[in-house]
Amino acid sequence: MDAHERICIIGGGPAGLAAAYYLEKNGYHNYTIYEAANRVGGKCYSPRFKGKSIEMGAIMGVPDYDTIDELCRAAGVVRGGAESLAHTDFRRPDGKLYKPFTGLNMWKGARLLLQLNKLEKILKEKYPGYDANGHYGTFYPDLALPLREFFAKNGVAALTDLYAQPFTSFGYGYFEVIPAAYVLKYLDIPTIKAFATNNLWTWRDGTQAIYEGVNKIIEHPATLNSPVTKVERSEEEIRVTTPSGTETFDKLIVTTPLAQFAAYADADDDEKREFSKIIHNEYATHAVMVRNLPKQSSFIPDNMTGERYGHPMVFYVRYMGEPDQPIVTYSLRNYPGKPTLSLEETRETVLKDLKSWGFWVDDVLDEKSWYYFPHVSSADYADGWYQRVEAMQGRRNTYYAGEVMSFGDMNETATYSKGIVDRFFQ
Ligand SMILES: Cc1cc2nc3c(=O)[nH]c(=O)nc-3n(C[C@H](O)[C@H](O)[C@H](O)COP(=O)(O)OP(=O)(O)OC[C@H]3O[C@@H](n4cnc5c(N)ncnc54)[C@H](O)[C@@H]3O)c2cc1C
Repeated sequence: MDAHERICIIGGGPAGLAAAYYLEKNGYHNYTIYEAANRVGGKCYSPRFKGKSIEMGAIMGVPDYDTIDELCRAAGVVRGGAESLAHTDFRRPDGKLYKPFTGLNMWKGARLLLQLNKLEKILKEKYPGYDANGHYGTFYPDLALPLREFFAKNGVAALTDLYAQPFTSFGYGYFEVIPAAYVLKYLDIPTIKAFATNNLWTWRDGTQAIYEGVNKIIEHPATLNSPVTKVERSEEEIRVTTPSGTETFDKLIVTTPLAQFAAYADADDDEKREFSKIIHNEYATHAVMVRNLPKQSSFIPDNMTGERYGHPMVFYVRYMGEPDQPIVTYSLRNYPGKPTLSLEETRETVLKDLKSWGFWVDDVLDEKSWYYFPHVSSADYADGWYQRVEAMQGRRNTYYAGEVMSFGDMNETATYSKGIVDRFFQ
């Protein structure tokens, strides 16, 4: 390829900034990033309150976040500073604290460990490469099964609840419907062990600071407040329109939701057909000030089921034992086949729950609803959605990256962008 060609990157989240960083590394310097918002980072959103960062979007990483580590090192962004995650406790839906893995439940812990070892062996022997970034490696039809079915088939059903904590409560959905391929790409064996041992990464200034840091070291920082509203592709050039006007490019890297791309771009029949199959979750975060702030964060495992969607599945107390900070709650607003709750309805449920748990609620400081975890159904995964979309990479000089192409976490999305650059911009 020609290193002088003009490249347009749509989106200044982890995927878009990683694409720019690795393009430069490969000698491509003629790129522009268009970002709709007035900041970079996308779902890594860390507003400040009384001098401290709070997390309304992404929170944490694990030691095998290799691409994020590389970006942090390059940008001089230091990890650490909010270590409270190691002390998360567990509550019943009525707010009562309990210990799931001690006393009478210790045998349960031992059983989980045995099944985890069994799963590790099965994945290594039957599904090598299951944890590779993206979905363009070996295709295993079993991995299209919903995780619950996949675990039952492989005799490790007891692990399902263990996986729900860093999956369902993190907004990624329910194991009766989500294909195992996604769950296991994110929660590969090293990652689930990192969660089980609380070996987790956080960033003092919030995850948003990672991308602000990257945006400072790249040659062409993202052009903010610039939503792309039109894309017209011909054989000669690609015309990209934002409110500031229309620019022409040779190549396009789309890191924004592909289901939305089809609405403003000159999508062809293949793009329209495939992107209309993408489904997503609605994930709500509420930052709530309470007078009697709990010392630490809590999981509420019984709220991680379809019957109790809308209820908080976890709440985050970022600075252990410190005053002047909100509790941030995390709830799913949707469940397949049931009506999607509005943000107001979810807020009402969250506040009612917090009050019934004995918290004196003062104020809702901030709230967000996120277009979350775009993915395809088990049926579409089994039907070869990824094989078809990967075969479309590069057609009409367009490359697809961002969450749906790998998985909706910081490292998977950034690593996929790195892969796009290494595969197509050499
Ligand atoms: C509540 C929450 C908790 C999370 N927790 C974690 C966690 O602990 N660890 C982890 O690794 N990940 C976590 N994530 C997921 C992680 O934040 C995302 O997977 C990651 O940000 C995806 O990066 P992306 O660049 O693909 O997309 P995004 O972050 O969504 O970025 C896309 C960008 O594109 C911009 N955009 C959209 N449309 C247009 C347009 N038409 N023109 C120009 N720009 C446009 C958006 O404004 C946005 O900035 C969490 C996310 C949320 C919401």
